[in-house]
Amino acid sequence: MRRKIVAGNWKMNKTLDEAVALVSEVVNMVKDEVTGDVQVVLCPPFVYLTTIRQYLQGQSRVALGAQNCHEKASGAYTGDIAAPMLQSIGVQYVILGHSERRQYAGETNAQLAEKVNIALAHGLTPIFCCGESLEQRQAEIHFDFVRTQLTESLFHLSPEQFADIVIAYEPIWAIGTGLTASSEQAQEMHALLREHIAGKYGAEVADNTSLLYGGSANEKNAAELFACPDVDGGLIGGASLKSREFTNVVKARQ
Ligand code: PEP
Repeated sequence: MRRKIVAGNWKMNKTLDEAVALVSEVVNMVKDEVTGDVQVVLCPPFVYLTTIRQYLQGQSRVALGAQNCHEKASGAYTGDIAAPMLQSIGVQYVILGHSERRQYAGETNAQLAEKVNIALAHGLTPIFCCGESLEQRQAEIHFDFVRTQLTESLFHLSPEQFADIVIAYEPIWAIGTGLTASSEQAQEMHALLREHIAGKYGAEVADNTSLLYGGSANEKNAAELFACPDVDGGLIGGASLKSREFTNVVKARQ
């Protein structure tokens, strides 16, 4: 079902005390101020997941997500984290294919297809990230590039499996740069993604897919972005590190 979702990607930020303070504040603010049916997802660093989970008990409005998982279920992969481990500690979502992992860890569309499979097999909802670089946009190959990311990492799934996928369109040139896609640019790409999904899975599946926007979204621009008919929510980086600002983004989506 198409859901309104606002996910906070904390990336590699916060000490334990800071992480606990942030989750406590967000949970309280969401409880007191958010009345709509938006699903909030917090994606802290791996080491804080079990601690953060304790603060989310009984809070169906705020779910727990990880920032990545390995494509194998277990094995000799020093320093990595597997999907069954995340499942075993109560994680519900996992960000896959973030542009920072594509850039710094060399993640490929084929590898991401495997990560999507293992995440789904272990009850995790993938938040699958896609998005083009500035050069690709300037060369006007951004639509093809993003379509290919979906085709190569997601279109092997059955319609039933695809129903569990959340997609985040994150233009690389807008991530952490303060440059936000205009609402027209966001809507244009989201509509194209929905059309691409419809071409593979049919209009009903496409209409039920949650498409999030990410890239310097904040309390000032969120309402305009979320007003776009094909933007169902946001994946929020920098603005998710401050409880007041993040909650304001959530409220813009409720
Ligand atoms: C992100 O990294 O997913 C992101 C959207 O970051 P920011 O909001 O800081 O641009």
